[in-house]
Amino acid sequence: MAELEGLEFGKSDFVLLDEVTMEQFMENLKLRFEKGRIYTFIGEVVVSVNPYKQMDIYGKETIEAYRGRELYENPPHLYAVADAAYKAMKRRAKDTCIVISGESGAGKTEASKYIMQYIAAITNPSQRAEVESVKNVLLKSNCVLEAFGNAKTNRNDNSSRFGKYMDINFNFNGDPTGGHINNYLLEKSRVIQQQPGERNFHSFYQLLKGGSEDMLSSLHLQKDPAAYAYTKEGATCTTSSNDGSNHKAVLSALKVIGFTAEEIDSIYRILGTILHLGNLEFETDAETVQVVGEESVNHIAALTRTEPDDVNKALLFRTVATGGGEVIDKGHNEQEASYGRDAFAKALYERLFGWIVSRINGVIEVKNYNPVLHGKNTVIGVLDIYGFEIFDNNSFEQFCINYCNEKLQQLFIELILRQEQDEYQREGITWQHIDYFNNQIIVDLVEQPHKGIISILDEACLSVGKVTDIMCLESMDTKLGQHPHYTSRKLCPTDKSMEFHRDFRIRHYAGDVTYSVEGFLDKNKDPLFQDFKRLMYNSTDPVLKEMWPDGQLSITEVTKRPLTAATLFKNSIISLVDKLACKEPYYVRCIKPNEVKSPVQFDDARCQHQVAYLGLVENVRVRRAGFAYRQPYARFLQRYKMTCEYTWPNHLMDTDREAVKAIIDAHDFQDDVAYGHAKLFVRTPRTLFTLEQERSAL
Ligand code: ATP
Ligand code: MG
Repeated sequence: MAELEGLEFGKSDFVLLDEVTMEQFMENLKLRFEKGRIYTFIGEVVVSVNPYKQMDIYGKETIEAYRGRELYENPPHLYAVADAAYKAMKRRAKDTCIVISGESGAGKTEASKYIMQYIAAITNPSQRAEVESVKNVLLKSNCVLEAFGNAKTNRNDNSSRFGKYMDINFNFNGDPTGGHINNYLLEKSRVIQQQPGERNFHSFYQLLKGGSEDMLSSLHLQKDPAAYAYTKEGATCTTSSNDGSNHKAVLSALKVIGFTAEEIDSIYRILGTILHLGNLEFETDAETVQVVGEESVNHIAALTRTEPDDVNKALLFRTVATGGGEVIDKGHNEQEASYGRDAFAKALYERLFGWIVSRINGVIEVKNYNPVLHGKNTVIGVLDIYGFEIFDNNSFEQFCINYCNEKLQQLFIELILRQEQDEYQREGITWQHIDYFNNQIIVDLVEQPHKGIISILDEACLSVGKVTDIMCLESMDTKLGQHPHYTSRKLCPTDKSMEFHRDFRIRHYAGDVTYSVEGFLDKNKDPLFQDFKRLMYNSTDPVLKEMWPDGQLSITEVTKRPLTAATLFKNSIISLVDKLACKEPYYVRCIKPNEVKSPVQFDDARCQHQVAYLGLVENVRVRRAGFAYRQPYARFLQRYKMTCEYTWPNHLMDTDREAVKAIIDAHDFQDDVAYGHAKLFVRTPRTLFTLEQERSAL
């Protein structure tokens, strides 16, 4: 088999290790990385190590080599998994999904793009215009979502600050007919503040550096990001992204997708509004708070199609209903006004992002699909979502992200074990069960109704009177003190790694994370004064108005408390898991080789840590204990009959199963296989590799 490589490149499937130990796993991973082999299988799972350099392995020829082939017929590659998912979808009408996981900078987004490009390349051979247009929109949507949802962080110059799940729909021909994007928890706090060395979302710098003179002057903006409070921190960062040319690419992508000129204009006016908002300050003069910078207020009013007086009022007052049902305007103090301004800026950006996603969905959703006429509409889902995060300071965002990873790990366990067991049962095969840590207990710690952390947070947010973060922490300590995966310094006073007053720790499946409770309640409640919502709803810009439907409620009508941020996130992740659980899953596990973006450095400790928490060694064990490969008898026979004298060119046995047995016996592979009702089960890839080699040597 010409494509498969010799052992100097290490083992192309971890299942082939002589012994399944962490040392051997790491040795193989490192050897392959050093030899430029960034992909390795664990059965059908692809382990990928970020090469941090352009690799010549994604071209047309490679795509052709993988198209329609079996997983073990070629060296490990993302394309092999993409093809397996595609084949399952096309041949067996199965909905499939590809789950890409790994920490920030490990290569998830790049992998998801290669997978989409592969699918686009192998579909629609007859170049039908409507299918080409769907593919084009799907591919172009990446460019737009990256501009608005990605940012330079200290870990990754192009870090996705939102989770993304994209469904691609296929017709009975196996051609894409549409899709749907779900986005999860955009890190909107970045709009108003960034860590040293980090930037705001790319979109702001792209606009300032790449926007035409006309565009910038109509937005009353100057070119220099240092001129704006919200982009100042990132103004000096060097990045690998070219903001100017990216701006042009985004504009053209927006047009291709079908955004109208008015809509594009609204998008950039909103970005301009946010930049002007950031430069507003407040001062107190004779006990009244005033805005410093009348000009900015005028710009904001002009850009949002509202009146300057109304903008001014929304910034300085909030309407409250008194106990007697009277409605009054209550002035902010300086601190409240600044808080309100920032909350407004964050909400504007978040709603803009959500609107862009739903606008794209409107274009790509499958229309007029008639299952009777067109057959079953099948789906491949691609999930590119934030990996586990442990920072020096972990806050509410890390709490949500790590909870999401617990849920996905739970799904991984559930699907891998359940699927294996179901299939063995169906085929009448006995197998040996492998135990590994079931993280359901941690999922419960976070999400259980009434008892879990999210419930306790919500309770604190909903109670009347002033509840502080610390009071909430105390309540968690009381209720969860006995939980084996929860610790607080109060319960464990000798632990010096936590701050006595504000920290709690969760023992996650991927490691211990200490969270500071400071800011949890505010981020969970995520308040925004109704006055801003009403201001936006009353805008004469239809796009803005559409983004703020809740602004039509008057203050006396706003009685129901909105769901908290943690509960909204929890609900969205539960619904994501439901979507994934009913599909046949394929996994890409991404590893970041070092912290310095080097193409030659393999940091042993960092890599081993990732391998450990991704559960990859256990994954190999499960794969080895069970049967990694399975094939219907007829297909196996067809492919390998030439390797055995009793089956070539034809066999005289009663059934295909007997003929397959003849091939296996002739090669002495009896110990590596089991015979199911309809399929042959093969434990290790070695058997298949040998047969493949013999086949191509003939
Ligand atoms: P985050 O969670 O922060 O979004 P991520 O896992 O999505 O991180 P990527 O943005 O995909 O990480 O990758 C980070 C960078 O690593 C890319 O911008 C690119 O420079 C490099 N990289 C990743 N994968 C590849 C690849 N297959 N070939 C070449 N370079 C790559
Ligand atoms: Mg990413």
